[in-house]
Amino acid sequence: MKTKDVVAHFGTKKAIAEACTNDGWALTAAAVSQWGETPPSGRQRQIEALTSGILRASGGASSLMSASESTGNTSKAGTPQITEQQNPTGMRDMTDNRVEDLNIESISTLITPHELKAEMPITDAAIASVQKGRQAVRDILDRKDHRIFVVVGPCSIHDVEAAKDYALRLRDLAEEVSDTICLVMRVYFEKPRTTVGWKGLINDPYMNDTFKIQDGLHIARRLLIELAELGLPLSTEALDPISPQYVQDLIAWSAIGARTTESQTHREMASGLSSAVGFKNGTDGSLTVATNALMSVASPHRFLGIDQEGKVSIVETKGNPYAHVVLRGGGGKPNYDSVNVKIAEEALSKADLAQNIMIDCSHENSNKNPALQPLVMDNASNQILEGNKSIIGLMVESNIKHGRQNIPANLDDLEYGLSVTDGCISWEETADAIRKMREKLKDVLPARNA
Ligand code: PEP
Ligand code: MN
Repeated sequence: MKTKDVVAHFGTKKAIAEACTNDGWALTAAAVSQWGETPPSGRQRQIEALTSGILRASGGASSLMSASESTGNTSKAGTPQITEQQNPTGMRDMTDNRVEDLNIESISTLITPHELKAEMPITDAAIASVQKGRQAVRDILDRKDHRIFVVVGPCSIHDVEAAKDYALRLRDLAEEVSDTICLVMRVYFEKPRTTVGWKGLINDPYMNDTFKIQDGLHIARRLLIELAELGLPLSTEALDPISPQYVQDLIAWSAIGARTTESQTHREMASGLSSAVGFKNGTDGSLTVATNALMSVASPHRFLGIDQEGKVSIVETKGNPYAHVVLRGGGGKPNYDSVNVKIAEEALSKADLAQNIMIDCSHENSNKNPALQPLVMDNASNQILEGNKSIIGLMVESNIKHGRQNIPANLDDLEYGLSVTDGCISWEETADAIRKMREKLKDVLPARNA
């Protein structure tokens, strides 16, 4: 059976999709467009039944065992071809006894972490940069380095050129303030969503619902290497439990987001991350989920994951000794103030955890109004000036331009350097606020741990 004959029979790809869906096995016109010269074997069997044999399944398609074949799906030249595994029992009829994969449209094999790293190996300059950044963060958490670290940058990366433009500015500022502040760039590729929406550059790099995850991983890794080579420590949110195998070698600090701090899967994953990791308080403002997470992540875990060859594996971790809380506000209220910081200190001490607190100046601590972030930064500096010893870091959502935009229907209408997720402060506001913070803290921090 040839794809073109199926299209000729039904008239349009949409009609094929509708006929198959009505028959009980969901299909979209977009998925039909992914078919190669012949439809997947399971579909051929379904279409043979649907057309009462006018169109006949060909070759291995009639065998229940012909579970996979190439769809001719294209990816970037030089990368392994993605293959789609077809539902082997395809059609639904009177004797249908399928009990699995009923809601699976397709499963595609992805490049392995090892293959991606062979294509884009980490360079010596990037290794030196990652090691230096991780060490600085660890030393700050251990109070061996008097500085504070500030995780600063876009809420999400959607434009690689704008990210490099931002990074070059940040690198210069990082050098300028390096006696007092260690700047770590936010390079966030995976976005948690409260309901639905664009899930970040890895999931949908072209922002057009084509979900070219394989391209997304390539673009993300290439950018991380280039930015690390600038000497900047980099941070990201570890959201998908598999993706760290592809990029974590380039990360100096990781976040677990407010929506996943309570998730066992994320605590297990974080227990094996090579970087320090910050756990946000819950979206309702709950601190307990974050302190519970810290106890969990410091312990060894055994769970399912993949190895560098992409094989499903049992992962056994040692536990991550460099985890800390991030106060981001929640339940409609901020929690960066000295009272909430004190409450967090007490909760940490009760759980016998190190007094390491990061303040996220954005999200609910800024009431989602980016213009308030510099005020939160200033408040945190004042707490330190007045003797606070637990605030070891800040998070700031910053971009080239102030504010945010919705993703337009026509991507040519995207405004350069403007966030497509949470609102950010502009580069000028960022540099100004960081310089002010350095001025305030440059004399107090060296004496802080004495
Ligand atoms: C973020 O840092 O952009 C983010 C999604 O944070 P949170 O998990 O606190 O909402
Ligand atoms: Mn955000």
